[in-house]
Amino acid sequence: MADPFYADGFRFTCTRCSFCCRGEPGFVFLSREDLRRLLRRLGLDFKSFFEEYCTLVDTGTGMALSLREVARDVAGEKASCDCALWDNGGCAVYEDRPVQCATYPFWSTIVESSASWSEEARSCPGIGAGELRSREYIEERLLARRGAGTIVLSYGVDPECMDADTILGS
Ligand code: SF4
Ligand code: SF4
Repeated sequence: MADPFYADGFRFTCTRCSFCCRGEPGFVFLSREDLRRLLRRLGLDFKSFFEEYCTLVDTGTGMALSLREVARDVAGEKASCDCALWDNGGCAVYEDRPVQCATYPFWSTIVESSASWSEEARSCPGIGAGELRSREYIEERLLARRGAGTIVLSYGVDPECMDADTILGS
């Protein structure tokens, strides 16, 4: 089998510029482990966390739990689609951020080719700069994202009537 495009590693260090957290609409899907970590970090029960930070996205098979976007005006900038966990200056839960964020930009769709890596670099100044990340490092992140899974609720379930134990299956 041929080596993957990232076989010699890639340079990447996050500059914490927040470009991937603000401005453009998008989804940050949550895994069970993400939810467990975020509830602990924020000291919230599921209902409060859901009301403040989450939305549901129809996947065609159920409703996936995603972080919500909020519109804000910051220092004269026009209102934008900010991740609800972005606080003035950066991610409010950086050390405990969801696996989708923590594994970026080492997603299969981004590291699959020179074209996709270069295209992504147009919106992320950390790509192509900083620390050299080995093939093993990249594959760990690909596996972490693939293995995390997303919380998907059945149609008709009211998340505000659920508690963390039910969602987390404990
Ligand atoms: S766009 Fe890139 S450099 Fe900026 S915060 Fe996101 S991952 Fe980090
Ligand atoms: S959780 Fe944090 S790192 Fe992820 S998009 Fe939101 S603000 Fe950015």
